[in-house]
Amino acid sequence: SDERSRSELLYDRAQHVMPGGCSRNTVLRKPHPFYVDFGSGCYVTDLDGNRRIDFANNMASLIHGHANEAIVAAVSAQLRRGTAFTLATEQEVLYAEEMVDRSDSFEKIRFVNSGTEAVMSCLKAARAYTGRPKIAKVEGAYHGLYDFAEVSQTSNPGNWGDAAQPASVPVAHGTPQSTLNDVVVIPFNDAARSIEILEKHVADLACILLDLVPHRIGLVPAQKEYVQALRRWTKKNNVLLVCDEVITFRCGFGGAQEHLDVSPDLTAMGKMIGGGFPVGAIAGSSAVMEVMNPLKSPVLFPHSGTFSANPVTMTAGRVAMQLFDRSAVDALNALGSTARQQLTEAISVAGVAACVTGSGSMFRILMKPEAPANYRSAYASAAENQILQSFLDYVTANGILLIGTGAGMLSTAMGQKEIDQLCETALAGFRHLKANGGL
Ligand code: PMP
Repeated sequence: SDERSRSELLYDRAQHVMPGGCSRNTVLRKPHPFYVDFGSGCYVTDLDGNRRIDFANNMASLIHGHANEAIVAAVSAQLRRGTAFTLATEQEVLYAEEMVDRSDSFEKIRFVNSGTEAVMSCLKAARAYTGRPKIAKVEGAYHGLYDFAEVSQTSNPGNWGDAAQPASVPVAHGTPQSTLNDVVVIPFNDAARSIEILEKHVADLACILLDLVPHRIGLVPAQKEYVQALRRWTKKNNVLLVCDEVITFRCGFGGAQEHLDVSPDLTAMGKMIGGGFPVGAIAGSSAVMEVMNPLKSPVLFPHSGTFSANPVTMTAGRVAMQLFDRSAVDALNALGSTARQQLTEAISVAGVAACVTGSGSMFRILMKPEAPANYRSAYASAAENQILQSFLDYVTANGILLIGTGAGMLSTAMGQKEIDQLCETALAGFRHLKANGGL
């Protein structure tokens, strides 16, 4: 039994006290997750002493990698001064000022503790502002755990409904039918069909919720024409546009919306803007954000959170975003573009049926011959999942950590050297799969 790794032993214990042995499914790997010892820059070392280049970066939340010196110093100083108060802090004001300067669409901002909470707050704000109950979302897009935001990502194709009119289907068992009735599902990157569906619900619709590069839809970018058609439609009909930039905010100084020339009414953020600490944010037009103003009577959307805008997160986030200035964003996007190119080359050199998607500093390797068009074509068959799993096992055993979907998120702690290592290992992985009849 002393042959067993420390990760294996810990996972045995974990399964006794947590369902599935964990609090978040994203850390699970077969036969057991890796338990981390420490992270430094772009490297992470597990308890069994294996060091890997980290392309997962806590699910895209560590834009500067692990234990960035400037963030550690600023946060350490704050820790000694207290971590959370029933008082306002200067740190909150400073960070709010910084953030609203990043985009013209951010006239006002409020901080929360997660992306889920940011999306939830946006949807509630949109309902409060419009007085209408329904929200529209793209089929299959992930927006966190809020009931309404969660709808339509079922992995059972039998429940999808007609492609022209995707069904409002639950993820969690027990989701009330009334929730499903208030979610309008539209197909990705198909403006004509989307608008046809939206028109039927226009009188009840508060907002459209849109991720500009949805991870669950293959990390394929939304087309500019699609986004702009939806924006025109929302303006014409006094429906709000909510962009979920929880992941994609990294794509531009002011988020992915900057590249698509779209100015949403509200933006949900999270992940990297916390500088490594739990965070979420809702930013948008003063008029809409005003629904959260507690000085108004009545308050249309009372909004609070015990740890919201705590000074540790505000400090870490502000330092992280100051370091992620325009030139840092551009440099990381250029590195992302190089990574996607080199991975695509590796696929063609190995001669395998795979492709690379992504945008900005994000990539995703899909075991499909071409990039999917929507949720339905992004759906991975059991065979494709098996191939992806073998590929991930290979690269993980060879010093590369990716997200379990085959996605990778760059950090400023990386350079060309790490991209070369990623692509060499991926090429070896593709060849290994091919030699073993997997691809
Ligand atoms: N929206 C998107 C696009 C996300 O990727 C995520 C997290 N993966 C969320 C919302 C939810 O964020 P959190 O996990 O911080 O609640």
